[in-house]
Amino acid sequence: MSTCTMGRRLQAEHSKKGWWVVIAFPDSPDAFKDATWEDVLPYYEDLAARPLDRDNVETWLADWSRFESLLSEAAALASFAYSCDTRDPAREEAQLRFGTRISPMAYEQRIRLQERLVELGYVRPGIEMVVRRFQNQMQLFNPANVPLFSQLSEVSTQWSKVNGAMTVEWDGEEKTPAQLLPYLEDNDREVRERAFKGRARPFIEQRPALAAIFDQMYEMRQQVARNAGFENYRDFAHREKNRFDYTPDDCMRFHESVESAVLPAVRRIMDRRRRQMGLTSLRPWDLDVDPQGRPPLKPFENIKTLIDRAGEVFSNVDPAFHDYYRRMADADLLDLDNRKGKAPGGYCQTLAFRKMPLIFMNAVGVDGDVRTLLHESGHAFHSFEASRLPLLFQRHPGSEMAEVASMSMELLAAPYIDHDHGGYYSEDAARRSRAELLEGIIRFFPHCASVDAFQQWIYLNPDGRDADARDRKWLALRQRFEGDSVDWTGLDAERIARWYQQPHFFASPFYYIEYGIAQLGALQVWRNSLRDRARGVRQYRNALALGATRPLPELFEAAGARLIFDHDGMHELISLVEEELAKL
Ligand SMILES: [Zn+2]
Repeated sequence: MSTCTMGRRLQAEHSKKGWWVVIAFPDSPDAFKDATWEDVLPYYEDLAARPLDRDNVETWLADWSRFESLLSEAAALASFAYSCDTRDPAREEAQLRFGTRISPMAYEQRIRLQERLVELGYVRPGIEMVVRRFQNQMQLFNPANVPLFSQLSEVSTQWSKVNGAMTVEWDGEEKTPAQLLPYLEDNDREVRERAFKGRARPFIEQRPALAAIFDQMYEMRQQVARNAGFENYRDFAHREKNRFDYTPDDCMRFHESVESAVLPAVRRIMDRRRRQMGLTSLRPWDLDVDPQGRPPLKPFENIKTLIDRAGEVFSNVDPAFHDYYRRMADADLLDLDNRKGKAPGGYCQTLAFRKMPLIFMNAVGVDGDVRTLLHESGHAFHSFEASRLPLLFQRHPGSEMAEVASMSMELLAAPYIDHDHGGYYSEDAARRSRAELLEGIIRFFPHCASVDAFQQWIYLNPDGRDADARDRKWLALRQRFEGDSVDWTGLDAERIARWYQQPHFFASPFYYIEYGIAQLGALQVWRNSLRDRARGVRQYRNALALGATRPLPELFEAAGARLIFDHDGMHELISLVEEELAKL
C-alpha cells in the first residue's frame, strides 16, 4: 500500500527506558484498504514496545482500539465486497489477503498485546470482561496454530467458491439453489417437490467435494485443539467462544429439553397442517406452503420497497431504530438482492472505525426475506448502541447475546409489518406472516438441537472423520429431533444434503447452540413486551448498549431475561408461543 495515505510520521519521545521512536497512527478509514502485513506490523510493534504503566495504559488502550477498528473495518469491507461477487478475482485476492495472511498474523500480535495488559494487572470498571476474555484467549494461544488458522481460512474460501458456483436448471433457466425457495411456497404440490429436490441436487452432486473440504477442516481443527492442550475441538471451541457461563453438558441438557418440551408442540403444529392440507402424510415439501392453499405472501416487488418499508416498521418500534436504519440505507450499506455469484446467506458486519454496520443478504421476494432483514437489522442496532462504548474490545459480546438482539427484533417488529404501520402486508397477510414467524420459532429448536448435537458428536468421536459415518449420524439425529411428523421415505440423499447446506459446519463451527439460547432470550423479551411494550423495548435497548461489558447472565438480566437450558423454562415459553398462535 502507499503509506502516504496513512500520514505516517516519525517523532521521537523521551521515556524512562531511553529514546524510543513512536509512529503516528493513521486516522483515515481507508488507511488499510490495500494494506499488506508489512504495512500493518509496525503499529503492532509500536504497541508491543511502547513503555506501558498505569499512567499511560488508557492512551495505549485507546490507540490500540482505534488501530484495530481501522484494520477490522478494512477486513470487513474486503469480505463484504467478495461475498457480493465471489467471481471477481481482485475481490477474492483482497479477501484472501486479509483472511489468510493479515488476520492470522494479527491474531498472534494481538495475543502479545493482551499479555501486556494482563501482566500489568490493570483492571477498572468497564473493562473487567475485556481482561477476562484476554486472559482466556492467552491461555488458548499456541503459535503452532497460526498457520493452521490461515490454512483453514483458505479451505473456507474454497468452500465458498463451490457454493457460489452452484446452479440449478429450472424451466430452462439457470438459477441458484436459493432462488428456488419461493417455489417451496407454491400451491402446486408437484412444483414444490421439484423445487425441493432441485435445491438439494447440487449439494448431492457436490457431496464428495464438500465432504473432502470438511475432512480437511476436521483434521486441522482437531490439531488446533490438541496444540492448545485440549482433547478435542469441541472442548477447545467451547472455551474459545468465551463460554464462561454454561458448559457442554448444559448444551446436552438443552437437547433433551428440546425433545421433551418442544417436540410435542412441533407434532401439534404438523398435525394441524396435515389436516388443513387434507393429506394422509406430510412430505418435506409440504412444510412451507400455506396450509389453506392461499397464494404465497408477496411482501415486495423490488428491493427498494423491501428497504423503504422496513424503515417505517422500525419507526414504530423506536424512532431511534428508524434513524439508525436510514443511516445505513443512505450510506449504501445494504446489499440485499440475490444475484448469481453472491455468497449464500445473510449477515451484518460492523465497520468499526466509522461505527456503521452493513447488511448482506439474498432476497428473492418471499416472506422470509422480510424476517431476515428485521433480524440483521437487530444486529445492526446492537452495533449502533454498543458503538458508544469507547473501546472496540468492550462492544462485542458472544453470539448468545448478539442473537438476542436480532431475534428479538423479528418479534418486536412483527406487530408493525402491516400497511397501517407502513409495512408490507394487508391485515390478513400480516397475520399469516406473524403465524409463520411463531411457527418457525417452534420448528427451529429441533433443527438447532440436531446441528449442535451433530457437531458435538463429530468432534468427540473418531468416526467424525468418516464421511459416510457422518451422514448416517446426521440421519439418526434428524430422526431423534424431528420425530415422525414428516414422511422422509426414499429421501435419505436429500435429508443428508441438508447438513451440507448448513454454512456453520464449514465456516463457523459450533456457532449454533447460541441461536437456541438466544431464541429463548428473545422470547422472554417478547413476553415482556406483550405485558408492557415501552418497558420491554427500553430494557432491550439498555441491554444492547451494555455491549460486552457484563457477563452473559447479566446481559440477559438487563434485557429482562435469564439463560434457559431446562425443560420448565423452555416449556413455559413454547406454551406462550402456542397461545399467541391460537389467536392468529
Ligand atoms: Zn443473527
